[in-house]
Amino acid sequence: MGLGLAATVAGGGLALGSDGVVEGGGAEQATMNAVAIAIGRRMARCYVRRIGTHRKPPDREARGHTIGVEADAACSSCGLVVEGGTQGCQRLFESIGLREYEDMRFARYHRIVVDVYAMQHPDRYGRSAKSFAAHLTGLCAWIDDEASAQSVNAAVQRWLSGPSPIEKPALPTSFGADTVRALVDTDDPVRYGQVLRRWARTTWDAYASLHSTAHAWIAAAQR
Ligand SMILES: [Zn+2]
Repeated sequence: MGLGLAATVAGGGLALGSDGVVEGGGAEQATMNAVAIAIGRRMARCYVRRIGTHRKPPDREARGHTIGVEADAACSSCGLVVEGGTQGCQRLFESIGLREYEDMRFARYHRIVVDVYAMQHPDRYGRSAKSFAAHLTGLCAWIDDEASAQSVNAAVQRWLSGPSPIEKPALPTSFGADTVRALVDTDDPVRYGQVLRRWARTTWDAYASLHSTAHAWIAAAQR
């Protein structure tokens, strides 16, 4: 369902940027596909790590093109100040997906990284009520118990694939002080897990007004 490359990138797991909810296309699906395509392009160029640093693609430099340096700006959603602003933040997220693809020590964190990033960027990854619910409950389940999160996510996915009438709630005005930047800057897998847990926790805390909603959705999914 339009997840070909994304599924490949995910190595058989959850597709990057996907909550597993098939909604028959639309802008959000297009955005997710764009993420997968962008990753594919970068894989093809073997231009891999440290997309957030100030290195330029070597193939373009070799052709002598003059490349404008993007100014640092704040991501419109999470507030991260990064080269390229919102687009730069998106590129950092894509670089995380690449590392998960290349290095199995990071692959186990794929789903929760997507859920946390989605909850910091709900304008892109939580537009529909069902997408929003999938990511919010994914974050909730992982915070509650990492070991059982996968089975909770499967139950939620089945639930959301059915009628499951839900409405998208009002969102908080900010999504926590930590950003995806901390993950990009962490190479050690153990330390990565620690940084990720902190990022997930601060993001979850920012959604305090929706904790009861998340738990209610999970309970409905498991009924
Ligand atoms: Zn951002």
